[in-house]
Amino acid sequence: MLKCHPVLFSTYHIPRRSRNPSLAVLCTILVTSTALLSTILSQNENNSPPAKSTNTPLPSTQQNPLPAPPPITTKKGLLARLGTQPDWSRLDDYQSSITRTEFQRLLQHNYLQNDQSADLLIEVLDDRARILKQSNHPAAGYYDLLFLPATTDPAKLPPEVPRYWTPAWKLRAPLQRSKPLSDLHIVIDPGHIGGDFAQVEERWYRIGKNTLPITEGDMTLKVAKIMRNNLTALGARVTLTRTEAQPVTSLRSKDLTTEARKWLTRLPGSRKPSSYKLQHTAQRLFYLSSEIRTRAKLINQQLKPDLVVCLHFNAEAWGNPKKPDFVEKNHNHILINGCYSQNEIKEDDERLELLLRLLQRTYYYELEMASEVANAMSRSTGLPPYTYTGDNAKSVNDNPYIWTRNLLANRIYLCPVVFLEPYVMNNRQVHARVQSGDYPGIQKIEKKYRLNIYQEYADSVTTGLVNYFKKHRN
Ligand SMILES: [Zn+2]
Repeated sequence: MLKCHPVLFSTYHIPRRSRNPSLAVLCTILVTSTALLSTILSQNENNSPPAKSTNTPLPSTQQNPLPAPPPITTKKGLLARLGTQPDWSRLDDYQSSITRTEFQRLLQHNYLQNDQSADLLIEVLDDRARILKQSNHPAAGYYDLLFLPATTDPAKLPPEVPRYWTPAWKLRAPLQRSKPLSDLHIVIDPGHIGGDFAQVEERWYRIGKNTLPITEGDMTLKVAKIMRNNLTALGARVTLTRTEAQPVTSLRSKDLTTEARKWLTRLPGSRKPSSYKLQHTAQRLFYLSSEIRTRAKLINQQLKPDLVVCLHFNAEAWGNPKKPDFVEKNHNHILINGCYSQNEIKEDDERLELLLRLLQRTYYYELEMASEVANAMSRSTGLPPYTYTGDNAKSVNDNPYIWTRNLLANRIYLCPVVFLEPYVMNNRQVHARVQSGDYPGIQKIEKKYRLNIYQEYADSVTTGLVNYFKKHRN
């Protein structure tokens, strides 16, 4: 049986704060006629002045030579760390592929941190979205994304859009009971690097001399390997972005000092950075930016999977890693991509990445998948949901475990990404469970029989994914 297209089955709960009367007024003011708009846009595009009236005779160049045209100035655009200049023609394939209503709803409901986040950067007009190409240099012009005219025919699906991944409802092979994940390519991304790099990436602590250190990158790799076995047995093709505690990128912080200096002095009036700041930034460029961008290249250009599962363990602030603070809190949450701040949307490459995700409708798939995984994890782990109190994440449905947040990995891996953040690493019980290692079967830990923490994590995510695909594939 053919399942509903997610556009039709997805349920929204539009939050109050996403209602935006100012936008409608803006649209009315801005669009007086398409012809006028086209003229304005083409002028902006070419960065040229309006044509002069032909009624006035032009002066002879011999008698009165024309002044030389001003030199064409190019200004470096604002980009995310180690980002590259956006190629706006990547949106050409998405022309007339989304209605104005759906575009605006996705933008406001999921992608914008608040109603003003995209002001002057992405303007929703009557028949098109008008996207500033370079936020710090409006003379570079706009990209016009035309909307699909609205239809009243409920059976008419939106046109296909290019994406390298296959949504569940389009998988060709019908659901097999014993292999519900056949035909799927799943990438597992074990978060961080671990091993010798765990201290550099600040995902490490140790208490006492005779205990195992807690290193997130090694823990995520253990979960990834168990999950690979689970998913393969259920019919999926599975690839890990890394299989050892080594970086995927070939760059190290010493190779990124120049980039770090450029980053720290990119804004006018920036002060010369201290050598500590420079080194710290170069390190972050290595283990976060370069590492994740290299994994993204592998995913988007070679592997082209149907989904990526990013594995992480959460933590509360632990202070000195050699004398950490333990906390009573232990929780879980799952991130999908969204909630872009104005400063993030001002970065030209990030603006294009937001639009590519929006136009590929990854939100619908991520939301459904994350909800199934959250429900399965809640049943298996018993962890309560984590609640964000700042404005860097927002809730988009009734599931208290699901938050939308803009992270590098869930933005630039260009397919549905489910980003997991269960267990607080500096919670006493989690520490005790890590000390117990990856024992077989079940063991009594603090009065309760439990699987080892890695197996519990891997099995619960597997169950969630199976539930999702059983529900949504043919
Ligand atoms: Zn992490």
